[in-house]
Amino acid sequence: MYRTHTCGELRLTDKTKQVTLAGWVQTVRKFGSITFVDLRDRYGITQLLFSENLNADLDANPLGREFVLQVKGIVNERSSKNANIPTGEIEIAVTEFKILNKSAVPPFTIQDDTDGGDDLRMKYRFLDLRRNAVKKNLELRYAVGRSTRNYLHENNFMDIETPFLIKSTPEGARDFVVPSRMNPGQFYALPQSPQTFKQLLMVSGYDRYYQIVKCFRDEDLRADRQPEFTQIDCEMCFVEQEDILQMFEGLIKRIFKDVKGIDYTDTIERMTWEDAMWRYGNDKPDIRFDISILNLKKPASVFVGKNDHAYLINGADFKVFDEAETVVAIAVPGCAEYSRKQTDELTEWVKRPQIGMKGLVFIKVNADGTYKSSVDKFYSEEKLKAIGEAAGAKAGDLILILAGTEERTRKAISDLRMYMATRLGLRKADEFKLLWVLDFPLFEFALEDQDGGGAGRWVARHHPFTSPKPSDIDMMINNSPKVENLDKYLEHPYANIKANAYDMILNGNELGGGSIRIYQRELQEKMFAALGMDAEEQQHKFGFLLGAFEYGAPPHGGLAFGFDRLCSILGGSESIRDFIAFPKNNAGRDVMLDAPATIDEKQFVELQIKLDLK
Ligand code: ASP
Repeated sequence: MYRTHTCGELRLTDKTKQVTLAGWVQTVRKFGSITFVDLRDRYGITQLLFSENLNADLDANPLGREFVLQVKGIVNERSSKNANIPTGEIEIAVTEFKILNKSAVPPFTIQDDTDGGDDLRMKYRFLDLRRNAVKKNLELRYAVGRSTRNYLHENNFMDIETPFLIKSTPEGARDFVVPSRMNPGQFYALPQSPQTFKQLLMVSGYDRYYQIVKCFRDEDLRADRQPEFTQIDCEMCFVEQEDILQMFEGLIKRIFKDVKGIDYTDTIERMTWEDAMWRYGNDKPDIRFDISILNLKKPASVFVGKNDHAYLINGADFKVFDEAETVVAIAVPGCAEYSRKQTDELTEWVKRPQIGMKGLVFIKVNADGTYKSSVDKFYSEEKLKAIGEAAGAKAGDLILILAGTEERTRKAISDLRMYMATRLGLRKADEFKLLWVLDFPLFEFALEDQDGGGAGRWVARHHPFTSPKPSDIDMMINNSPKVENLDKYLEHPYANIKANAYDMILNGNELGGGSIRIYQRELQEKMFAALGMDAEEQQHKFGFLLGAFEYGAPPHGGLAFGFDRLCSILGGSESIRDFIAFPKNNAGRDVMLDAPATIDEKQFVELQIKLDLK
């Protein structure tokens, strides 16, 4: 038997027991004639005491960091106890030891505060995984998975595997493709998600499906994306949107409870996409803090009908505002006393290329209720006060105003809102606030190419299987998708069609999303046509699904959560990589395997592929 106990198990109550432990040498400390060794395994660290009588043995078989060691000995009470670890009251008086394997000197220290940089740790990820900090993340991931499976099982969901070697499933990215040796010149695509399979399972009558499953998307890797990532993928039939929202509120609350011990009893807020964009400039707003946007101009047509506050800035002859497409403001609590240096700093911040604004206008609401601004020349105190009141500013607040083109300015104010909240400590790591964003637009107009499919066309905002709101179906069927004037695409009826789609947001992160699906062949064909697919292409790409819809497809809908992201948020980290055992770096490389890599000439021959790199 290699061991009787783990290195995290023994306590004072085990005193005098004869035990055998096995693990890795964390540290070796020699004090005069005795030697202390910290022995580590997955469960913890136990102190070993080698006394003088083993010195000759130790000299003959010196121990080094990360050696694999087996010891036999007796559990003793320690003279100097360590209250920081559960085994800190005992040590093992070693009677016999055996080196099971040696180790080269590790390239970084296997400790919480390691001296290893990111690249080095990724190259030796198997060593990095020995570190407690990383292990804790994987344990959390496992706990989230277990909680998910328990909840879904209790609710009659069935875990059904779906294949990886398939045909394209469009989720807005490029496909990873795999050449087929047995079918020369033909390729599989790796699933961007199991979307079409889970829908087929609904047609087959498996009315509650789930899978914790890998998805593959060949995207330009923005920060913190992985080309392969994991989803909690779910689908249900005979459901309406409300059924889905409730079922998965239940799942997330259960995960909070099981993994974090948090009773999330608050009602989960719901907000339309339009409101989210209008109030926060963003479709995944962090609502832990109460700063919302005041729109000082009526923006483009998607937001038609909203009350804007243009009257507050009009007629002052201030060109910057008059000529801008969009003018937006936020009131930041308690910052009226910012010095010139601090407001200059904020101006520099919005001028950075990532934000791209030309400048920042600010209004201070002084503690005595008077107003002072960088545009005093144009606006009377009375006007400033009216703006302040509309922005919900209180005495002591600082109002920040941005002006520019719609998309950029909206994004900039949203970023500024988050930046200020972070600066003011309003985004607390231990506070969790869930939110549903509903009623997304069905389409998005691709002015530029997004997925290799070309520019100047409608693309599905979610995916092509998402159903329009029933009240908008006629609008879709009765209008041609053609956009005559690209500058005016927002005036096309398609810009206003809403989807039966929903996203769950946690602290400003999209946790997941889904939709009620189209389940009639005719409507699905219309949808594909709207996305620019002719009948032949539809048949070639999705003939299997259209065909299945002819055999009694039930109404259905579902969603998928980003599993890695969920884990990283619950673990209080910004990075999903920390929660993946073997992640890729920001360039999509596995630096440990050194993949992707070239393949043998022989493989090209078998695949009948000739490489002709441009
Ligand atoms: N397949 C979708 C996605 O990956 C989720 C869904 O609609 O269920 O985003």
